[in-house]
Amino acid sequence: MSISKLVFPPLSYTGWGSLQNLVPEIEKYQVKKILVVTDPVLAQIGLVDRVTEPLKENGYEVTLYTEVIPEPPLEVGEKLVSFTREGEFDMIVGVGGGSALDLAKLAAVMADHEGPAADYLNLSGTKKIEKKGLPKILIPTTSGTGSEVTNISVLSLETTKDVVTHDHLLADVAIVDPELTLSVPARVTAATGIDALTHAVEAYVSVNASLTTDGLALQAIRLISRSLRKAVEDGSDKQARIDMSNGSYIAGLAFFNAGVAGVHALAYPLGGQFHLAHGESNAVLLPYVMGYIRKSCQTRMANILNALGGNSDFLSDEEASYRCVEELERLVKDVGIPATLSEFNIPDSALESLTQDGAKQKRLLSRSPLPLEEKDIREIYKAAFK
Ligand code: NAD
Repeated sequence: MSISKLVFPPLSYTGWGSLQNLVPEIEKYQVKKILVVTDPVLAQIGLVDRVTEPLKENGYEVTLYTEVIPEPPLEVGEKLVSFTREGEFDMIVGVGGGSALDLAKLAAVMADHEGPAADYLNLSGTKKIEKKGLPKILIPTTSGTGSEVTNISVLSLETTKDVVTHDHLLADVAIVDPELTLSVPARVTAATGIDALTHAVEAYVSVNASLTTDGLALQAIRLISRSLRKAVEDGSDKQARIDMSNGSYIAGLAFFNAGVAGVHALAYPLGGQFHLAHGESNAVLLPYVMGYIRKSCQTRMANILNALGGNSDFLSDEEASYRCVEELERLVKDVGIPATLSEFNIPDSALESLTQDGAKQKRLLSRSPLPLEEKDIREIYKAAFK
């Protein structure tokens, strides 16, 4: 019998209108100076006011930081870390997609550490995180990354991505209010939605999957597959936004505990070298990676097919696993994401550098049910170029 270690953030609120819990939660902390970390788009469209206004009305001293950019480079993270250290804040509230949430939690922990954040990176860092840092509340405005419930902060480096990861990066409170996602444009809805789907699929076939993560992952796949197309087509579809928000949240809980694998390992270099959005990188690779590892997890892929709304009843596991890959391809296509790397204007001359960087992601690759070595990674990228 195997033993599963499961870690969940201490407190989450989910559901339409759950943002109303923000002020009552903050009141439980002895804080006065709050740093709200977001990106310029959310400031411009006024979405972040939904967070800052109630704080100001309740007498908190609020500083708004809006310099987060998508797929944040390490330097952008370092700048926020310096700003946080100088500002002597009591708490950080992150509001936004994964980019803003990742930097908010990084800054909260780094406030209590010395030296650049680069020293704490997983692949190239030399120092260990030891202290919890400032209390942090994370409020996602996309349905995708699950960053509000993971202990990971992803940073873009010159040619790939790396992470700072430690349980101290977990949110003290996550508030997952689907109402905040109504304004997400169709293209971002599609990319972030497939990102959440990828989390669930990779967690379900991970070598570290457990009974708990299986339940979360399959339910996330059901919610996402029934509502992603609708959310992309009509962003004001309330039920579709609720399903996507819940799906993304529980997919986050699943992958944080079971891990993601090959799709993410190969997606990171696409983000690093070609600045493809994280969700789009995952989306374009998902069918190719699942097609490649299919043989190692056919029964699980039959279960995924059923969760995607297909029916494996009269199929062998092998047949069902092929159908599963087709269903994934169809969903990616239906939400308007190109099916090949070439359609993203990535030149096939990049095959070797992508392969080299993908192979470095040993932490991610170790969760794949089919061990993926350099030659396998090259084959998958090759197929994705065609
Ligand atoms: P994002 O945060 O980069 O946002 C994408 C765009 O959507 C931005 O322009 C943003 O302004 C806009 N946007 C966000 N919410 C909006 C809203 N409600 N209305 C209108 N526009 C809105 O995108 P993302 O996919 O959420 O995050 C990607 C980042 O998260 C990447 O760096 C990725 O590596 C990281 N990530 C982290 C984890 C984790 O566990 N920490 C997991 C997966 C991905």
